[in-house]
Amino acid sequence: MSDRQIVTRIAPSPTGYMHVGTARTALFNWLYARGRGGKFLLRIEDTDRARSTPEATKAILEGMAWLGLDYDGDAVSQFERASRHAEVAREMLANGHAYKCFATQDEIAAFREAARAEKRSTLYRSPWRDTDPASHPNAPYVIRLKAPKEGETGINDQVQGRVVVRNDQLDDMICLRSDGTPTYMLAVVVDDFDMGVTHVIRGDDHLTNAARQILVYRAMGWDLPIYAHIPLIHGPDGKKLSKRHGALGVAEYREMGYPAAAMRNYLARLGWSHGDDEFFTDAQALEWFDLSGIGKSPARFDFKKLDNISGKHIAAMTDEALVSELEGYLAATGQPVLQPHKRDATLKAAYCLRGGAKKLGQVIDKARFVLADRPLNIEPKAMANLFNVSIGILNELTPQLQNVSWERDTLEGVLNTLAETHGLSFGKLAAPLRAALAGRTATPSVFDMMLVLGRDETIARLEDAGKMDPEALA
Ligand code: GLU
Repeated sequence: MSDRQIVTRIAPSPTGYMHVGTARTALFNWLYARGRGGKFLLRIEDTDRARSTPEATKAILEGMAWLGLDYDGDAVSQFERASRHAEVAREMLANGHAYKCFATQDEIAAFREAARAEKRSTLYRSPWRDTDPASHPNAPYVIRLKAPKEGETGINDQVQGRVVVRNDQLDDMICLRSDGTPTYMLAVVVDDFDMGVTHVIRGDDHLTNAARQILVYRAMGWDLPIYAHIPLIHGPDGKKLSKRHGALGVAEYREMGYPAAAMRNYLARLGWSHGDDEFFTDAQALEWFDLSGIGKSPARFDFKKLDNISGKHIAAMTDEALVSELEGYLAATGQPVLQPHKRDATLKAAYCLRGGAKKLGQVIDKARFVLADRPLNIEPKAMANLFNVSIGILNELTPQLQNVSWERDTLEGVLNTLAETHGLSFGKLAAPLRAALAGRTATPSVFDMMLVLGRDETIARLEDAGKMDPEALA
């Protein structure tokens, strides 16, 4: 298998939202395959018709797209492959590894009841396993796998080590129901085999399924994939991640304003490590990721760490990447899209928007001075600052700005001199300027705003503010 191209997959069931654990499993599979020139596939496990919904499939596709986890080819629908699954069940029947079971629900219930009363294992043992097909009735039947009764089935798991299940604890599982539909357990194996999956990397809630799935591979004489069952994600209190720990759906993280690059970085660190590295790029993750770096105990979700990593990504990404992230964030949160000239202005301002921001919402807040149009809507707190020094100062400043060269040094000179003349600290002067230029209190520096806005817009905003009536405060 070593010279074969690596093929991994994510196989989510489309029920509800896309769970953050599913996103992490997808990421691990993506990193493993892409870092080794392999393929990464997506299969929607929509066999359970009652629970699968198109909305949930959409959430998965959107989550994958947002996280940048591109997959090869088209997404595979498990349900659409039902006839192939049935074909394999019939093949196992033909090669003697499966049998027709005519037991009715009542008979199975009676078997279980008797087993309970006699304190025997309640695993169903079908009387049809060894009957002569000539004696079969003309009645509905299921196809059961003929599981070995003795010995054990071992899983050589890349994360858990060797895991052994006693065969007397495995029943003859149903592969094809009496209505001809395949069971999930059969479908997974057939699909993985047909899709050429070499590595099955998934949550360790599937570990016991692996033992039963291996039996199908054996019955068909197929090569086993390499298994890696990763521990689930827990909340900060060590209990299984649930709604009370915070968001469970991937889309919620997007709406909270985490950039996709930060989410990839953080999710990679949830259960996998490379030394002490916390903050890394995709290129580094692709180079470093390996199954041997996956821990055996559940990772704990920690919003503080996520915020921290997110802030670092916001600080490090290119201006263009930051603006694209902002556009995605605006769309995800139902805010108006950036018009081309606003996009240009945001791009120009990008260098002064990131400082200290941990989430994209904070960047957008700082960008309000370029996003807003005159006349500015001045927030009440900013409005109070506008009048904390004489508004006349703003009117004194505007003529001075008409002819100076529009550069940081010159602007600093003009404002510092103005502050000195009035016996004010620079901070005292800056507060009304922030209000005038941005209509807010939390903004980039006054000089950055002036440089980004340019002379005409700066003067126009100062003039607007200079005309404000202090009575408006009341
Ligand atoms: N459909 C399963 C799930 O959503 C995954 C099965 C697998 O990865 O083998 O948990």
